[in-house]
Amino acid sequence: MGPPRRPFRFVSLLPYLGLILLLLWLWSMVPKGPFLPEPGTIESATPVVVVDAGHGGHDNGAMRGGLVEKALTLDTALRLERLLKQRGFTVVMTRRDDRFIELYERSRVANQYARALFVSVHFNDSATESGEGVETFFASEKVAGGASRKVEPPPADKGAAFAQAVQRSLVSRLGALDRGTKERSFAVVRHTRCPAVLVEGGFMNNPAELRLLKEPAYRERLAAAIAEGVTNYHRQRAMEAAKGAVAKSK
Ligand SMILES: [Zn+2]
Repeated sequence: MGPPRRPFRFVSLLPYLGLILLLLWLWSMVPKGPFLPEPGTIESATPVVVVDAGHGGHDNGAMRGGLVEKALTLDTALRLERLLKQRGFTVVMTRRDDRFIELYERSRVANQYARALFVSVHFNDSATESGEGVETFFASEKVAGGASRKVEPPPADKGAAFAQAVQRSLVSRLGALDRGTKERSFAVVRHTRCPAVLVEGGFMNNPAELRLLKEPAYRERLAAAIAEGVTNYHRQRAMEAAKGAVAKSK
């Protein structure tokens, strides 16, 4: 006969039970996925570039000589996406295929990001003039907070400096006629909270420019020029921010 066995007491289990409850409580405190960023909370030093291919779906845009604007804008936008990614930018496309998207929806995509740059790609068409060259538009006035009624501060640059950087690259890289930067009340730039531009990459009713736009190599150069403009503007802003930080610390 061995030593007498201690009678089982529930009380002796209590410390273990307590430990299990503690572990369960800790587990409940661990945040569970999916870890998608909340709109408006995405912050990064490098802005998200929102690339908007104009038109799409039932909205063809201009049509000349067998070319449709919505297809030209998408092709150029996809090239721009690739080139910007190569330069280290995060890129968000408003469309990646042939579909119709409301203008406000295009702005809303960009307004989800705390730091963004918005580039809309279009091609000109004119019934009244032969038309020649490239031009870059920005908002004459920003509607803060986009289509939502939220009151948010307008950006320091409503697009003028951004437009200048892009236009400068377009003119120097393409050798195209410089029509300059222009203030206009286009919905996509007006309702986009971040600095936003709308690029008109040539006239489809101008036979010489239409011939160029038909060439994939030319559209690649056009996309490269826009990507360079975006990069230059980003660098310029980063330098200004750094200078501002130094001035503050003095
Ligand atoms: Zn257009």
